[in-house]
Amino acid sequence: MQKNTEMLSSIDEDLAKAAQLIRDGGLVAFPTETVYGLGANALDPKAVSEIFNAKGRPADNPLIVHISDVSQVYNLSDEVTIPAERVMEAFWPGPLTVVLPRKPGVPDVVTSGLDTVAVRMPDHPVALGIISRAGVPVAAPSANSSGKPSPTTAGHVAEDLSGKIDAVVDGGPCRVGVESTVIDLTQEPPVILRPGGVTQEELEGVLGHVETAASFAEDYVGAPRSPGMKYRHYSPKAEVVLVIGEHADEITQKVSELLAKYHCQGKITGVLAAAETAAKYSSDAVFNLGSRECPEEIARSLFYGLRYLDMQGVDIIISEGYSEKGIGAAVMNRLKKAAGSIIFL
Ligand code: AMP
Ligand code: MG
Repeated sequence: MQKNTEMLSSIDEDLAKAAQLIRDGGLVAFPTETVYGLGANALDPKAVSEIFNAKGRPADNPLIVHISDVSQVYNLSDEVTIPAERVMEAFWPGPLTVVLPRKPGVPDVVTSGLDTVAVRMPDHPVALGIISRAGVPVAAPSANSSGKPSPTTAGHVAEDLSGKIDAVVDGGPCRVGVESTVIDLTQEPPVILRPGGVTQEELEGVLGHVETAASFAEDYVGAPRSPGMKYRHYSPKAEVVLVIGEHADEITQKVSELLAKYHCQGKITGVLAAAETAAKYSSDAVFNLGSRECPEEIARSLFYGLRYLDMQGVDIIISEGYSEKGIGAAVMNRLKKAAGSIIFL
């Protein structure tokens, strides 16, 4: 059934309206510091199941429950350990999701039947304003069609979900631009299931050694611990080719060679490039992600750039690779999942 999707702003009256829609079992997209989320009352299984329908999300990919106050975590899990309390204290509100043993009251549809629940307190006044007014925990995956690049503006959400959800709250572009880091605290040592806005280095500063899930690796085959990791993801309509190398000049040369080859084949090309090299390419379209010296800037514009190049109608997007240090781990994880092919120099 087609819905009339209301566009709301971040004024108090609109946040109250968004909260009421969530309490009434509706679906509302709202900004967080990472990406836009598509929220529903986490305690209402029917509302949560509508999230999966609107996104076309596989039912075995569980959702993150968003809260507006640290104390709410104890309603979702009764095994909040001391290490869990330490990371929540250090990184909340912020781009860190903790996986904890779940309480029986958390509906199966939220956790895809797992005995754990993923919880996060976002660092965005609009998200916090809506969740606190709703008075319930809010299950919210990224507000995109499943498989597409995540949305970092209200316009991206409307492109994918207009007519399928009750409202979009526009709070401007997202500051971090990639999703939260997901850490499984039910394992010892803890395991990073998805790299994101909080870096491994930052987590190790609080927890000591943490593992990274084997399923980050491109050649990984097996059962992932975080079900979301097995799906192709973040993919624009155009085919994505990722060029990974040690030196920026090697990467530039390879990207230029590929551009010549694709032009010869009559393909329309787009390049996702760092500021340092963007001007060097002769391509139908080039999107400048920002400086290699500022990985946070690259992260912030990554999904925007993928969607922008799609809008230009390109057949192929060639992306330069980046260092996996710090938030670069999240950038490269998303690019590898978006890519149909990866060239290692
Ligand atoms: P999204 O909200 O679309 O950014 O995706 C949420 C991510 O968190 C996906 O990769 C899920 O598989 C993961 N996730 C959610 N709940 C759990 C859980 N209980 N255990 C492990 N991973 C989870
Ligand atoms: Mg997602």
